[in-house]
Amino acid sequence: MFDIQKIRAQFPILSETVNGKPLVYFDNGATSQKPQVVIDSIVNYYSKYNANIHRGVHTLSQIATDAYEEARLKIQKHFNAKHNYEIILTSGTTESINLVANGFASLLQKGDEIIVSALEHHSNIVPWQMLCEHTGAILKVIPMSIHGELIMEEYDKLVSDKTKLVFCNHISNALGTLNPIEEIITKAHAVGAAVLIDGAQSCPHIKPDVQALDVDFYVTSAHKMCGPTGVGMLYGKEEWLRKLPPYKGGGEMIATVTFEKTTYADLPHKFEAGTPNICGGIAFGTAIDFMNEVGFDNIAKHEHELLEYGTKRLQEIEGVTIYGPTDLSKKASVISFNIENIHPYDIGTIIDRQGIAVRTGHHCAQPIMDFFKIPGTIRASFAFYNTKEEIDIFVEAVKKAKMMLS
Ligand code: PMP
Repeated sequence: MFDIQKIRAQFPILSETVNGKPLVYFDNGATSQKPQVVIDSIVNYYSKYNANIHRGVHTLSQIATDAYEEARLKIQKHFNAKHNYEIILTSGTTESINLVANGFASLLQKGDEIIVSALEHHSNIVPWQMLCEHTGAILKVIPMSIHGELIMEEYDKLVSDKTKLVFCNHISNALGTLNPIEEIITKAHAVGAAVLIDGAQSCPHIKPDVQALDVDFYVTSAHKMCGPTGVGMLYGKEEWLRKLPPYKGGGEMIATVTFEKTTYADLPHKFEAGTPNICGGIAFGTAIDFMNEVGFDNIAKHEHELLEYGTKRLQEIEGVTIYGPTDLSKKASVISFNIENIHPYDIGTIIDRQGIAVRTGHHCAQPIMDFFKIPGTIRASFAFYNTKEEIDIFVEAVKKAKMMLS
């Protein structure tokens, strides 16, 4: 049973007021809110068993190690990875992508090609550009249509035996587009290229199965899916993780060290140098449990209703342009829009006075804004704990802001 009031009651922040008004939080694409169980798991760690992991013989260290490794198992199970050591705990999506890009620096040669989609967040563009500068590889871009969908016929033309890597997000943060990653992966594999999928925006909405997808790398951040900031994961197929060199050197990632030579620890520790975000990793596991208890089928159904309702209500406002797929089945619960002749920042600032949190700007996806020739958009991104009543408050506030600004 999906009981929205019971779910909301588990998020303390949803009863807060902002600027004297009840908070309406529609900036879930930037970061999600945290349920009490996740907050408790952080407090519990620091109040009851704070200790460094993997190296202590004392009891607290063992309790902390077990809790951290149990979180890795939860993440493995959630994403259906074959082995627990294929889950590398990182500081988030950005670090996971940089880890892979850094590793490929030793595998690419001048003239090799890598393909990226036109819909990417800067964190899935810049590391690859740095990689190209370093190796002489060439970056190609899958273009998109005016509906913010990738033009797959163009992808077919780009893929060749020169292609070594393809990167794409599962869901676009700026427009909410659900990308055809199955097709992207199959076609890349047909020429022997590896694929990295950026799941920062998909994991709050759907449960990816990395084995069914046959994806080589899948990355995400805990904070988008009810977990804390500063922790995330890289799933990598064992064969790839064995091929890539370590990303950071330090403690934890070694087998033996002498001044002549160091040998590296086995997976996953080879990629986990230094003391990790221990309580973050543990709370990531708690967040995954929480989301599975809510249920991804329930989440998808409720969020789709919010998307349909929000789209319909916003379209009542004259001069509104919504960017992204018009077919809502190809979209997550994100509405990125503008109002004719009004800067998105002005709308965002005015509705903030009503306690409404939305994101305005380029959403770290400047090439998408350049494509539409706009400075940015107003982005309302809904989570499973949002309601139609909140959408009504938001739409009325946008209408008022428009009146004030026109
Ligand atoms: N990719 C996408 C699609 C995102 O939405 C984000 C976060 N906005 C990132 C990557 C980067 O995530 P993080 O800042 O948590 O590393």
